[in-house]
Amino acid sequence: MDQRDVDVVVIGAGQAGLSAAHHLQRRGRSFVVLDAEDGPGGAWRHRWPSLLMATVNGIFDLPGLPQDPPDPAEPSRVAVPRYFAEYERLTGLAVRRPVTVTSVEAVDEDPAGRLLVRTTAGGWSARAVINATGTWNNPVLPTYPGRATFAGRQLHAREYGSAEEFAGQRVAVVGGGITAVQLLEEVSRVATTHWYTRREPVFRDGGFDPQVEGREIIARVTADVEAGRPTGSVVSYTGLFWTPYAVAARDRGALQRRPMFSEVRPEGVVEADGTLTPLDAVLWATGFKPSLGHLEPMGLRDPGGGMRMAGTQVAREPRVHLVGFGPSQSTVGANRAGRAAVVGVSRLLAAA
Ligand SMILES: Cc1cc2nc3c(=O)[nH]c(=O)nc-3n(C[C@H](O)[C@H](O)[C@H](O)COP(=O)(O)OP(=O)(O)OC[C@H]3O[C@@H](n4cnc5c(N)ncnc54)[C@H](O)[C@@H]3O)c2cc1C
Repeated sequence: MDQRDVDVVVIGAGQAGLSAAHHLQRRGRSFVVLDAEDGPGGAWRHRWPSLLMATVNGIFDLPGLPQDPPDPAEPSRVAVPRYFAEYERLTGLAVRRPVTVTSVEAVDEDPAGRLLVRTTAGGWSARAVINATGTWNNPVLPTYPGRATFAGRQLHAREYGSAEEFAGQRVAVVGGGITAVQLLEEVSRVATTHWYTRREPVFRDGGFDPQVEGREIIARVTADVEAGRPTGSVVSYTGLFWTPYAVAARDRGALQRRPMFSEVRPEGVVEADGTLTPLDAVLWATGFKPSLGHLEPMGLRDPGGGMRMAGTQVAREPRVHLVGFGPSQSTVGANRAGRAAVVGVSRLLAAA
């Protein structure tokens, strides 16, 4: 018989959810982890096949289990889910899946009352929720005039399979982030590419010291979420780096950036200068936003639409923590956030 009354429901079993679960387990809390996937790995299960362990930015260890040295040639969509599966097995974390959380709401007006977590596999009742649902299921597709009229292929980066699908084609890659640069490098080997960004991309020369620049960046993202401002893309804080794939793309002439087109037509796009560029495909590498729709019934937003955070806790709702969100949108950040959320939730439960 399922235990449907728990102290904490963790929603999502990516890096952030598993970190939170690890710390809940260590503290002996009653909790359940619900995950929409068919198996372990979080969003890593879906990364495009050419995102190799050599081309990821670095995957931080889950708490308490160092990874084996990665094979640089192995796709991250294979290596990371295998590591997560091993983690779940060794720690005995029985993640419930596939279970999609459809809504979270307070059962009554009591601000310290229980929360009802509705799912595709029935309801759970909890005293707190740690939300770790990532961003993969909420891709951003910007609206441009005429976008729906395009006669060629349009896809978001999350649907990208391989460069070979575009062999011999004329392809627009839209977006100024790491993903756009990676995909430009690959697709430009077999196709004619055009790169469109809203702002001039900023490449940083020199290295990146996590102790110095890393801290500053985290401080800026934290300031944004604590003020209830939506956070920008990762590169809007960090800039782009001259990684080997960026250098290869530049050397092939694939990083000649154009300003955003003004309109999409059936046969291509209208450039900022009014000329028409014929295209076979538009690849939108335009990022992701947090997947938080199921939390809407909680009314977590301020009247202005922002959601102010206090650490991992939603400022106006001590029963809800968001991990893998804002400054913790990285594997290392997700780890730390999981621990911080459990500290916060434990304080709440102890006070009740
Ligand atoms: C292309 C790409 C490459 C990246 N590369 C790196 C990198 O190299 N290094 C790095 O540190 N970070 C990287 N990141 C960021 C990184 O993915 C994240 O910070 C981290 O892995 C996300 O972990 P997470 O637990 O927050 O989310 P996810 O891994 O997305 O896990 C969220 C889980 O929640 C589940 N879920 C979602 N909604 C629901 C729901 N309603 N009910 C139940 N379950 C739900 C999902 O199915 C998923 O299993 C990358 C991101 C992208 C998009």
